[in-house]
Amino acid sequence: MTTLDNSIIQNFPNASVGHFGSLENWSTTRVPLSQTGDVFPGKLWIKDLLGLTGTEVSLSSIPAGGSVPYDHTHDQNEELYIFLTGEGQMKLDGEIIDVKAGSVVRVDPVAVRCWRNTGETDLVHIVIQSKAGSLAQWTAGDGMITSNEPIWD
Ligand code: ZN
Repeated sequence: MTTLDNSIIQNFPNASVGHFGSLENWSTTRVPLSQTGDVFPGKLWIKDLLGLTGTEVSLSSIPAGGSVPYDHTHDQNEELYIFLTGEGQMKLDGEIIDVKAGSVVRVDPVAVRCWRNTGETDLVHIVIQSKAGSLAQWTAGDGMITSNEPIWD
């Protein structure tokens, strides 16, 4: 896997931190796709880089005029697409919807999907995969406030 040129990974006993640079540089990543051997430009999967155990996340950027070159579905995982910059379209089971910075799209595993950039700037987005139906606790139901006050120095 090729990461961004200036990416930095920091590992701590109970956390990992990735510094992947500014959003305008995300489109320079080139990642080989294991299924096809093709190179997927502008896509960086970070599960292995950060040691994630419950989700796969990709940092993604499609340049102006670009498109994902295939439709796909998933076996078990639902996906959440979070669009950070730009304008584009998603095709969901043949239905085309417009997306732009601030759009968030949840997709069931079986849905046939594709997406493309229809704007003049990079379409920067994050894709989160997690097993559909697996979430047992959420929001404040899983968080536990500790007894100490936050101390920063
Ligand atoms: Zn997918």
